[in-house]
Amino acid sequence: KKCVGILTSGGDAPGMNAAIRAVTRAAIYNGFDVKGIMRGYKGLITDEIIPFQTQNVSNIIQQGGTILKTARCEEFRTPEGRKIAYDNIIKHGISALVVIGGDGSLTGARIFASEYNFPIVGVPGTIDNDLFGTDTTIGYDTALNTIVESVDKIRDTATSHERIFFIEVMGREAGFLALNGAIASGAEAAIIPEIATEVDQLGEFIQQGFRKSKNSSIVLVAESELTGGAIGLAERVKNEFPQYDVRVTILGHIQRGGSPSASDRILASRLGEAAINALLEDQRNVMVGIQNDELVYIPFSKAIKNQKPIKRELLNTLRTLSI
Ligand code: ADP
Repeated sequence: KKCVGILTSGGDAPGMNAAIRAVTRAAIYNGFDVKGIMRGYKGLITDEIIPFQTQNVSNIIQQGGTILKTARCEEFRTPEGRKIAYDNIIKHGISALVVIGGDGSLTGARIFASEYNFPIVGVPGTIDNDLFGTDTTIGYDTALNTIVESVDKIRDTATSHERIFFIEVMGREAGFLALNGAIASGAEAAIIPEIATEVDQLGEFIQQGFRKSKNSSIVLVAESELTGGAIGLAERVKNEFPQYDVRVTILGHIQRGGSPSASDRILASRLGEAAINALLEDQRNVMVGIQNDELVYIPFSKAIKNQKPIKRELLNTLRTLSI
């Protein structure tokens, strides 16, 4: 009997539990055994592996975080660490793995899969939306909604005091949260890594934005080093325009929390089931994704290596609507 091991790895994202539930239930529905692996790759090495039944995943679809816990695991980056992981996988009779995580987790999966010729299917779980080959990732929509709620609140105080707020959001090297968060919250600008080397985004904003009749401004900044971060940008404005009252808010880990949105729950449910279907079809070393509302399989090599492009027209939309 086939036995599927499930783990969540790297940065946690709302909707990971919905994905764990979907993978578990779809696997059992199709006659597989299921084992839950605690703490990502760490649990493979420390042998924290437990049998999963349908009731292990009851009442979790609405919960943020991940019941399997997640971790970063340095040992898994070494061949010695991966050997221990492999021995434990065999010991537990696991014949395929489903890895729910981001770019780093799928990189680890790819290396492990080729080293041991072991079948792995990846499920894109990250708030950053930075995996190529899927329109969105699990957790992104919820994080975006959290950002919008937060910016709405900051807007109230920004307007009352006539201030410029730089609000830093997550995203690693990707500007999806910053750009779409800015559009959805009616912010004046977004500063994103994708175009950081092409244009002086702050310079442009100062040119266009500061001349406007508005008396308060909100700028969303992606956390990447390429953007300078919210603190760096605020310093620059303070030096060049000491007349402005500049403030910084770093949204931080609240962006990872909360009950997943309906979209993220549906995405996680579809992708979790698709991961099991992929194994039934003898797919291996692919990430499941959704493109134009259709389920697709993307080889790990493509999902990880390619930079997912930001839609340029969104920058124009933001610019046009923030006059
Ligand atoms: P995310 O999956 O959110 O991008 P990380 O980049 O922290 O998170 O990666 C999660 C884990 O995946 C790492 O702690 C490590 O165990 C594993 N991993 C990442 N990159 C590699 C690699 N090059 N080789 C082996 N394992 C890796």
